[in-house]
Amino acid sequence: MNVFRKWINDQGYGCELCGAELFDYPTHRLCKDCEEGLLFNDEFWCDKCGRKTKTSGVCVTCKSHLPKFTKGFSPLVYHGETSAIVNRMKNGKRRLCLYLGEKTAETFVSRIPKEEKEFLILPVPLSKVRLQARGYNQAELLAETVAERLKERGYTVTLDSAAIERRSVVRAQKKLDFTERERNAKSAYHLHKRKLCEGKTVLLVDDIMTTGATGSACARLLLGAGAKAVYFLTVAATPEIT
Ligand SMILES: [Zn+2]
Ligand SMILES: [Zn+2]
Repeated sequence: MNVFRKWINDQGYGCELCGAELFDYPTHRLCKDCEEGLLFNDEFWCDKCGRKTKTSGVCVTCKSHLPKFTKGFSPLVYHGETSAIVNRMKNGKRRLCLYLGEKTAETFVSRIPKEEKEFLILPVPLSKVRLQARGYNQAELLAETVAERLKERGYTVTLDSAAIERRSVVRAQKKLDFTERERNAKSAYHLHKRKLCEGKTVLLVDDIMTTGATGSACARLLLGAGAKAVYFLTVAATPEIT
């Protein structure tokens, strides 16, 4: 059992959000009221990046800049109250990574081609400065949960949290457009273990997808190192802008 999982188990059995007692924990990690407040991405989603769309097909963001990753998957919609909840995972409430990681794994498994059986799982890293300030990388905790869930379902997985490095000196992404963000992200990430990726199907795990530029930049690196496919898994994605 890993340290994070042990720590979670030692915390007791209540809703991860409101603390209400749950008799069927960990089958359910949130109480009914809290789970009903989440906006799930389960009606129409983009065939490419996986974000919520109004109808079937490809979203407007992908139509203007097709991301480099093979396909994206997100169980939740980063909008309203749901985005506030997802943000809590980054702001101290790290045990939420377990629930959110499980939902991410479920969504991925339900939407991938059946012949895919073996994955290399890589979390999107934080810079050393950010990691020191927060104390943990939520993408790494999510990736650990995704790896455990996939293993339980009979998939062969390898998890490597040190393959990609995020260099500290980068401009803030918020005010940039997609091309600038992608260029920015490209210079921010460095792939240490190029050989590891050769011929592999990579699951790149992150917390939130907005433009998809981070996923796209990392996918470019991984595909450049010989990865067969790169799936981008995030907990939540912003909905299509219409
Ligand atoms: Zn609750
Ligand atoms: Zn899209």
